[in-house]
Amino acid sequence: MRLFDVKRFAIHDGPGIRTTLFMKGCPLHCVWCHNPEGISYEPTRLFTASKCIHCGAHETEGVDACPTLALQVAGKDWTLEEILKTVEKERLVMEESGGGVTLCGGEPLMHPEALVEVLEALGKKGFHRTVDTTLYASWETVEHVMAHAELFMVDLKHMDSAQHEKYTGVGNELILENIQRFSAMKQRPQLWIRIPLIAGVNNDEENLKKTAAFISSLPSLPEQVNLLPYHDVGKAKHTRMGTKYNPKGYEMSVPTEEQLAQAQEIFSRHGISTIIGG
Ligand code: SF4
Repeated sequence: MRLFDVKRFAIHDGPGIRTTLFMKGCPLHCVWCHNPEGISYEPTRLFTASKCIHCGAHETEGVDACPTLALQVAGKDWTLEEILKTVEKERLVMEESGGGVTLCGGEPLMHPEALVEVLEALGKKGFHRTVDTTLYASWETVEHVMAHAELFMVDLKHMDSAQHEKYTGVGNELILENIQRFSAMKQRPQLWIRIPLIAGVNNDEENLKKTAAFISSLPSLPEQVNLLPYHDVGKAKHTRMGTKYNPKGYEMSVPTEEQLAQAQEIFSRHGISTIIGG
């Protein structure tokens, strides 16, 4: 499995304290992506100019090592044994906190065979398994992976397909259809829907009402809905990758306390309680 990061003691990636495995590759390219180094499946070079001692390594083709870590490469192939060994170190804290392991990305469903291999092995060892996904995948893939997880955390970014495409590169039809089919399954993992709330992009009243109406009309309600206020952590990574954050200069800002309260109010009118952050 190709990972670009492993986060230990993660507290925002599902219940309890977790180890989060970040899989390389994503079919979307959200303008606000926090992990742009995870979008390409190919290893990605990140360079921090302030740490550079000008030894010349980062300018040399094929050289990935750097004495000061000014140059880092995101994207390494892990064996199943390496993953299990890493995860096993946190077993106690996971058990005590009701945590487990989260597979995110990138988009984990982009590489379903590697994903299922790891999920299956984690399941045999008794770990709680969460998949953090856009559900931008074929239904066959979603159904195949569902059997090997206790929780799916699904992003819902925009209800208007043209707007969704403008900001993420793909329309939303497949995602909405998969959320509906997922929630209609008699036996399914838990479903948490997570909405990145970005002023200027998706926090207008019309989109929030449509989002709330969509969720409340699902065959079974999600067990949790989170509103995740925007922040621009991806910016520094773009600088390190030598690419430009938000190249088209779209207006994107952090929602105010008042806007967050208004968003919660809209959801609650549709019978949906929401958690800010998470
Ligand atoms: S779906 Fe997630 S990983 Fe993929 S581009 Fe969007 S924010 Fe980044």
